[in-house]
Amino acid sequence: MNAESYYASVFAPVAVRELGDDRFVAVSRTGDHQLLSSAQWQAAEGDASSLPLPLQASLKSRFLLLAKAPSPGMRRLARSLQAAKRETVLAGPSLHILVTTLQCGHSCGYCQVSRSREGAGFTIEERDLDAACDTVFESTSPTLTIEFQGGDPLLRPDLVERAVRRIHDRNRGEGRHLRFVVASTLHQLDAGLCDFLCDYGVFLSTSIDGPSWLHDRNRPTPGRDSYRRTVAGIRLARERIHPDCVSALMTTTPHSLSHPEAIVDEYAELGLHDVFLRPLSSYGFAKRNQARLGYSLERFEAFYQRGLDRVIEWNRRGVPMREVYAGILLNKILSPFDSGFVDLQSPCGAGSSVLVYNHDGYVYPSDEARMLAATGDPSLRLGRIGERLSDLLSSGVQRALHAASLTAEHPDCQRCAYQLFCAPNPVEAWAAHGRPDVAPATTEHCQRHQRLFDSMFRRLDAADPDLIDLFHRWAHPQHEEASRCGA
Ligand code: SF4
Ligand code: SF4
Repeated sequence: MNAESYYASVFAPVAVRELGDDRFVAVSRTGDHQLLSSAQWQAAEGDASSLPLPLQASLKSRFLLLAKAPSPGMRRLARSLQAAKRETVLAGPSLHILVTTLQCGHSCGYCQVSRSREGAGFTIEERDLDAACDTVFESTSPTLTIEFQGGDPLLRPDLVERAVRRIHDRNRGEGRHLRFVVASTLHQLDAGLCDFLCDYGVFLSTSIDGPSWLHDRNRPTPGRDSYRRTVAGIRLARERIHPDCVSALMTTTPHSLSHPEAIVDEYAELGLHDVFLRPLSSYGFAKRNQARLGYSLERFEAFYQRGLDRVIEWNRRGVPMREVYAGILLNKILSPFDSGFVDLQSPCGAGSSVLVYNHDGYVYPSDEARMLAATGDPSLRLGRIGERLSDLLSSGVQRALHAASLTAEHPDCQRCAYQLFCAPNPVEAWAAHGRPDVAPATTEHCQRHQRLFDSMFRRLDAADPDLIDLFHRWAHPQHEEASRCGA
């Protein structure tokens, strides 16, 4: 090899994707990226030495321009950076969702799992609850998040207290880092419950869909006072437990789509620093009511971009807020360490980093899988509560989900510039198409994330230094994302 060919570089992205307006993003095997014009892209592919030296240096530092004979060290570095992006999935299940009861005082039109239900069949048996608490410790994960979902778990506080005490006591000999979360409307919260939650360091996750008129429309109760009671619960929890003990999630309905600014403003006014502008899931009851509750990707994206603009505006005015979906995308794009958002993991986080112990006595790989079962399709059950964790994780269902979520197995993903940031969602594919391994490009999950990553790269391309700083802060979250809640 002569010196000229040794020093010559080749342009080697995993893919280049067009963003519009003569802008392109090139992503390297390490997950680094560079935004380029078409002329710069052509020059990089033809004779990279014709590019300005700072751009050549930038492309080299992002592993997009490689020496013709890349060293073994370079290949090892690329592999270790790719592994860091998948680390959370490989550590073992860390999020354990206990669905203690489907009882609920609301009748939300989009509810995926629940209606007001009394009596047997909608609440977990105590022996199943105890067995689920013990299975949690079979995970090898050093950090265990135990999240209570429903229905509304605080309609059966005795079950929450039983599980928290059991897990807490067992942990004396285990030494894991525990985090408890209760997803609730907070309508049942009182001083005694607050004191218990405070003693055990339990966080609360509630739902705020927007201003009172929107929240009460989306979340009807017999007294038409859902918003007032949830906000009263937030205030009580802040006073009695801790000012930062409550987070909130929202669901986007067709009624929400014209009001992203009002929704974001509501979060700012309630002092909620994280707002997650998330689309309505097409599982369960929401899927049955698709004609009434559904909306197109285009409408969601228009809503989302306006909402994100509003969150950025609040930050520019000095009010710190984070849009959680943007934080997830930015974490993928800007950080080598993955925050563990299960829907964008390969292999999938469902069943490997998340397990759901349902009131019906079965274990599911995700919240969405138990919602499918609630509407008559139990095919995503991993096994009974009480079976060994290793058996659940090696079940046929889990192996099928795992295989269908590998980007390396899908030609669509192998061609995709976002393959290191994203992955197919086999649970959604199962819900929509009856099988987990459909071509990703045909799924709403894939189409939505291609659009969202495109728009995030366009924002990064146009961002001023203040916005770049903000995006880097969002990309490095200090705590695990709250999972989607059923309450
Ligand atoms: S699911 Fe779609 S957006 Fe995600 S990596 Fe695969 S092809 Fe790309
Ligand atoms: S979405 Fe939550 S609050 Fe509404 S009915 Fe379902 S479980 Fe109850």
